Amino acid sequence: MTTQLRIGVIGGGIAGLTAAYRLLQQGHQVTLWEQNRQLGGQAAAFPVAGTALEYFYHHLFMSDRDIVALIEELGIGDRLLWLPSKVGFYAQGRIYPLASALDVLRLGVIPLHDRLRLGLVTFYLQHVRDWRKFEEVTAAEWLRRALGRRAFERVWGPQLRAKFGPRAGEVSMAWFWNKIYLRTQSRESLFKPERLGYIEGSFNVLIDRLAEAIREMGGEIRAGVGTAAIWRDDDEWVVRDTEGVETWHDAIVATIPSPLFARLFPGLPEDYKAKLTGTVYQAAVTLLLQSRHPLSDIYWLNIGDPEVPFTGIIEHTNFIGPEHYQGWHFIYVSKYVEQSHPYLGMSDEHVFQESIPHLRKINPNFSAEWVERYWVFRERAAQPIITVRYSARIPEHRTPLPGVYLANTAQIYPEDRGTNYSVRIGNRVAELVREDIQLGRLPLAATKAAARD
Ligand SMILES: Cc1cc2nc3c(=O)[nH]c(=O)nc-3n(C[C@H](O)[C@H](O)[C@H](O)COP(=O)(O)OP(=O)(O)OC[C@H]3O[C@@H](n4cnc5c(N)ncnc54)[C@H](O)[C@@H]3O)c2cc1C
Repeated sequence: MTTQLRIGVIGGGIAGLTAAYRLLQQGHQVTLWEQNRQLGGQAAAFPVAGTALEYFYHHLFMSDRDIVALIEELGIGDRLLWLPSKVGFYAQGRIYPLASALDVLRLGVIPLHDRLRLGLVTFYLQHVRDWRKFEEVTAAEWLRRALGRRAFERVWGPQLRAKFGPRAGEVSMAWFWNKIYLRTQSRESLFKPERLGYIEGSFNVLIDRLAEAIREMGGEIRAGVGTAAIWRDDDEWVVRDTEGVETWHDAIVATIPSPLFARLFPGLPEDYKAKLTGTVYQAAVTLLLQSRHPLSDIYWLNIGDPEVPFTGIIEHTNFIGPEHYQGWHFIYVSKYVEQSHPYLGMSDEHVFQESIPHLRKINPNFSAEWVERYWVFRERAAQPIITVRYSARIPEHRTPLPGVYLANTAQIYPEDRGTNYSVRIGNRVAELVREDIQLGRLPLAATKAAARD
């Protein structure tokens, strides 16, 4: 028989919901706090055009096996669509399709011999398994050497700068390798476009089903209520939430960004705290347009022009057609920025107005008249910056505080953060709780009794 614990889960994104679901399956009592009224965190969607659409563009890769397994297990596998995607690269005033190996050879921004070299380097990265050798070197250094200065400066250099701004030179080659490697896993062949996944009706279908399953098993979800303070009371953890309610728990699973976790648990040892406070995140600012017309025929357009202040343009309705959205076209204009960037404080109107001349570069016919509505969404902890020798700086899921576990996007490595890996770490912390019960480390009172005996 399993020991039943009272477990508090902090954060109702994909990691927190998955952890809560798994812990309930183990027979524990679970309370989950999500400070926003809506569950789902970065993957949540909001109502538009008779359906729902993510605040931030979302798709799955065919290598995303953990989330696909969860979707199947929850009985919503029939909602999963796998569709071909069209990738492009904008540079020197035009769009270059970049969907297959042949497109790399046609990439006119660099001379033919550079293209051949780019094709070979891409092929090599797609087939390397031992990523550890990339840990010690920055992407900029490795790529400049492998591709030559010109190809780097015209193709991958601008994309790294568009995503990481002034920190672009610090990003690890292990991170970059994984981006290339995983994309191969979403292809049947190098000459065919990749297939990407989407949940028909939005990621809310998964989020709602997880919440339903949690409630069916007796879990308590406190949406719109954050955790304000946590302290140890003998063998228990006491949580005071933002409504002033205090509850007692045997274990805590936190899925919030590392610096917030460090603030919530000031008693952490210095070496663990240093790992938390040393994590630096890029923020995301995303302008979403509801348009009468398409901007291009590309789904995922990487921007390689330093004069265009976007990281990418993701035209969702070139992936999931406008017929799903009452005929409207939905276009995300994405920008990753450092925490001090003016876009984080700028009015939505200002962000929109600033984008117009640049959107005209992509499509000279674009006009503000096309836009029925627009929104600007911001996420501060959007992308942990993965620097060299990152593995040594990842905080462990089992924190030094007994009965306290951490599962957040900064612990995902060498893969880039994504919903699949939030499911994986949610599963993982639930397994650690099970192991710790088996090892007699939980509940804490039992550990003390064992030490006394
Ligand atoms: C622009 C953008 C595009 C993306 N595109 C994709 C994509 O195409 N495919 C993909 O798979 N992934 C994508 N992702 C990444 C993916 O959405 C995230 O990695 C994943 O959703 C993170 O889930 P999480 O549960 O780990 O964290 P989060 O979603 O950040 O959840 C943490 C939750 O904790 C809550 N919280 C914080 N503090 C407290 C507190 N004190 N008390 C209670 N609650 C608290 C927050 O409100 C939040 O809801 C994208 C992300 C962004 C920003």
